[in-house]
Amino acid sequence: MTLAIAILFSALAMTLIVGVRYLIVSGAFAAATRARHPGLYAGLDPQIRREIGWSLASAAIYGVPAGIVAWGWQNRGWTLIYRDLNAFPLWYLPLSVLLYLAAHDSWFYWTHRWMHRPRLFRLAHAVHHASRPPTAWAAMAFHPIEALTGAVAIPLLVFLIPIHPTALAVVLSVMTVMGVTNHMGWEMFPAFMWRGRLGAWLITASHHQRHHEQYGGNYGLYFRFWDRLCGTDRGIGDFGRAPVRKKDRAGGDRDGAAAGRDPGL
Ligand SMILES: [Zn+2]
Ligand SMILES: [Zn+2]
Repeated sequence: MTLAIAILFSALAMTLIVGVRYLIVSGAFAAATRARHPGLYAGLDPQIRREIGWSLASAAIYGVPAGIVAWGWQNRGWTLIYRDLNAFPLWYLPLSVLLYLAAHDSWFYWTHRWMHRPRLFRLAHAVHHASRPPTAWAAMAFHPIEALTGAVAIPLLVFLIPIHPTALAVVLSVMTVMGVTNHMGWEMFPAFMWRGRLGAWLITASHHQRHHEQYGGNYGLYFRFWDRLCGTDRGIGDFGRAPVRKKDRAGGDRDGAAAGRDPGL
């Protein structure tokens, strides 16, 4: 097997993993939504089909850099991923998870805020905001340009910050679960995670839903640090207390994606 085919195979395998992971996790939370809040996604079938289409396209864009880096890790000793648990003190395991989440959050905040500049919004980010309200299937519903900005984050970080595969698995799990649950239309986490002292710093569905309602603020991914520091935090919606009301959905796609409005920058 030539080098090019080996790398291509790794990229395809990773695309398949990302795509199947998306279908399983989004499918599971969509099923949980049907059980907990029947009718919440009523009338959203055409939107959900679009969300799945964009998300599967994003899976390929996420899969390629991840697959190339995974190949290099296995075959060329690339990256700072370490297999020997004793290579770093044990306390570094949770710290590495936090470092990755903080770095990814910073990357996401600034690229997301950039995506809200009017031209880029119309060109790319409008795809994500066409989901009104988003559903569990919207987790990876991005235009390819935006998917590319997201796809390079973790493959770049593994060259910068040492991490053990188990810690990386935790990071990827948090990334996947938060990506889905932040969009699913109701709050599943206990109140201490979105209210009070800890909630003031964490992002869950209640926070991100407000981004989808108001656009110009709440740009973060996991933490409210950058939003609070930069004055773009818009607090949480009432949605933490009740699922999205029917009338909020009535605006549908009519005035959403085309508007490209962003008072944020
Ligand atoms: Zn946005
Ligand atoms: Zn979103």
